[in-house]
Amino acid sequence: SLYFISYYYVLFVTAFSVYAFFTGWKKSGFRLKSPYPLLLAGRILPGLFNFVYQKGLSPFWMDLMPVSLLLSAFLYLAAIKKYKILEIGEIYGREIFSNIKEGMLLLSPSGALLEYNDSAASVFDWLSEKNIKRPVYELDNRFDVAENLTEFRISQGSGQGERIYEFRLTRLEEEGDLMGYLYVFLDVTDNIRLIEKLKYVADHDSLTGLYNRGRILREAERLILLRTEEKFPFSLLMIDIDHFKGINDSFGHLAGNEVLRQVAAACVEVVAPEGMVGRYGGEEFLVLLPGISGKKAAEKAEMLRARIEELPLSFIGHPVSVTISAGVMDAGAVRKEELRIDYLVSRADEAMYRAKNGGRNRIAVY
Ligand code: GH3
Ligand code: MG
Ligand code: MG
Repeated sequence: SLYFISYYYVLFVTAFSVYAFFTGWKKSGFRLKSPYPLLLAGRILPGLFNFVYQKGLSPFWMDLMPVSLLLSAFLYLAAIKKYKILEIGEIYGREIFSNIKEGMLLLSPSGALLEYNDSAASVFDWLSEKNIKRPVYELDNRFDVAENLTEFRISQGSGQGERIYEFRLTRLEEEGDLMGYLYVFLDVTDNIRLIEKLKYVADHDSLTGLYNRGRILREAERLILLRTEEKFPFSLLMIDIDHFKGINDSFGHLAGNEVLRQVAAACVEVVAPEGMVGRYGGEEFLVLLPGISGKKAAEKAEMLRARIEELPLSFIGHPVSVTISAGVMDAGAVRKEELRIDYLVSRADEAMYRAKNGGRNRIAVY
């Protein structure tokens, strides 16, 4: 009769909702402080009471159904009131949690993994269902809530594939009680790479790859400070390519550019690793020689001159000899009150012009 259809229908509905509540509870890590145990109890109770009644085990053959339905209603009410499960905010929060591009990890007060969203799972392969409830620091020792780091960076992968994530750790508290921890993170690789690139561009000459004028002058200021405070010696060289206009005029601007690159590379080779080379102007280079003074500075300048003279350059089949003139200035050769960058550069410049007037392809010491 129709009674059986109704019986199977009730059975099916009950099984389905028990299943739904149970998976919800499982997802929350079987936390007792969640609405799911209440909902489950409320759902199972009427069936249980009915079973007891059918078996004839209820006192005085009393039909337990009305009692169980009342109890069940109370349990549902408790779940709704206590956990506000019908509030739009909760539903909305879950949506945000799973769809936001920031990665999120929810941890228990003891640091066990409770929940994570898709963005997080796409970054850390240990974020899987089987690791729910395991302490996160056991899965990845860079996450330790005990360390109480509220902001930190983590890198994943290596080489070109390396990505950098910026993490923020929030303590979740309710009325002063610690309820858990929330890690929120974002991929900041592109920002960091862009900043590095901008910093590089701001400091370097794009044609030669040398320090640009601003950077080499800042390095000089730093050396002046060291000289003043710790008597640390240094020298500087002003270098200018001889008859450079002639190279441009005979072989074109691109040939001129190639000469600039080759001369720059030769300078770096000769003075590395301590020495620093900057492009001071069009075809002028400023060289800083930390720790070097007097005759040693002049020797370096002479080595440079000789190396550049020997550069095997040729354009449209013509071997081209490129030479430089250099002015040498020892920072130790000036009085303390004259130890300023503009003073040192103009003295090196003076020496360089003496080298030019002396016939070029030579060095002169201030
Ligand atoms: P001197 O021996 O007296 O130094 O003669 P010079 O021809 O080297 O001197 P001058 O200062 O008259 O010429 C410098 C030339 O350098 C002028 C300019 O066109 C050229 N120049 C400056 N920057 C660049 C550059 O980036 N690329 C090229 N190809 N030429 C440049
Ligand atoms: Mg010049
Ligand atoms: Mg020149």
